[in-house]
Amino acid sequence: MQFIRDIYADKKKAGRPVISLEFFPPKTDEGDRALLERQLPALLEARPDYCSVTYGAGGSTRHRTHATVARIVRETGLVPAAHLTCVGATREEVDNVARQYWEAGVRHIVALRGDPPSGEGYRPHPDGYPFAVDLVVGLKRVAPFEISVAAYPEIHPQAQSRMTDLDNLKRKLDAGANRAITNYFFDTAVFLRFLDLCLAAGITAPIVPGIMPVTNLAGLRRMSALSGGSVPDWLGHMLDGLDNDPETRRMVAAVVAAEQVRLLQANGVDEFHFYTLNRPELTYAIAHILGVRPMSVA
Ligand code: FAD
Repeated sequence: MQFIRDIYADKKKAGRPVISLEFFPPKTDEGDRALLERQLPALLEARPDYCSVTYGAGGSTRHRTHATVARIVRETGLVPAAHLTCVGATREEVDNVARQYWEAGVRHIVALRGDPPSGEGYRPHPDGYPFAVDLVVGLKRVAPFEISVAAYPEIHPQAQSRMTDLDNLKRKLDAGANRAITNYFFDTAVFLRFLDLCLAAGITAPIVPGIMPVTNLAGLRRMSALSGGSVPDWLGHMLDGLDNDPETRRMVAAVVAAEQVRLLQANGVDEFHFYTLNRPELTYAIAHILGVRPMSVA
């Protein structure tokens, strides 16, 4: 099993962007079939460096996440990363899930605190890992996982201040995480300023921008209320009046995300994490714009 850090090194030598794609575990057998038999095989062409699978709020998708990740390992040529959270589970339970992943050949965990299922305030489980930094330490005890953690260019909504949030990020990386993936953002300047702040705080690990091609403004606004990402007025204007026109919304989403990644690329960013929302066609087009080509053409 190859570690992603080795792939990163090879890619960087070849001057190609590093791309990861995030999926959620499908809820139905039909969704499962669509993801594993059609969408993921089609994405092999886009050469994602890894595909991550989310863990539902409060660990609600624990079994589905595991099943999807295990099938990615068994049935596709893609490198998986499994999201894992601290919510609602003892340390022993979380360690067991991690051990099962390691035994199934999964070498990369996206380690998160997570949020409680129904939006109530977060309270650590009395016997659990309280925060993501504690999970990183625990995972490293289970096996030498590659670990990604979350970062927030617009500050995590429960952080006391920008400085405590940056300090938390640094502690996660110092505890052994290999990189941070950011929450989505739409204003590129916000991300570039965040990179400067990370550097000033002594953070040298890769900070990978999380890119979300947005087709559903109402859904985005609901998500943003929880995650702290802001929705700029210009994005609202671009999607305004298109509620009944999904095709045009998809085109707008692709244009907005393509412009964003090109601007980031022009500023020297060469790693991108895409929130695909299980609609990878848009991401495929954006990866192509970034210069990713099917394997045979390389
Ligand atoms: P932490 O890094 O633990 O930080 C959470 C908050 O606590 C921050 O405000 C931090 O400043 C503060 N804090 C840290 N330590 C302490 C302390 N000792 N005392 C007091 N405050 C402290 N959620 C899911 O449920 N499933 C997923 O699959 C998932 N995937 C994600 C992927 C990415 C790339 C991102 C960016 C987010 C994802 N999330 C997911 C959302 C994430 O779980 C939430 O944003 C959650 O609220 C914070 O998680 P964290 O890992 O950033 O927490």
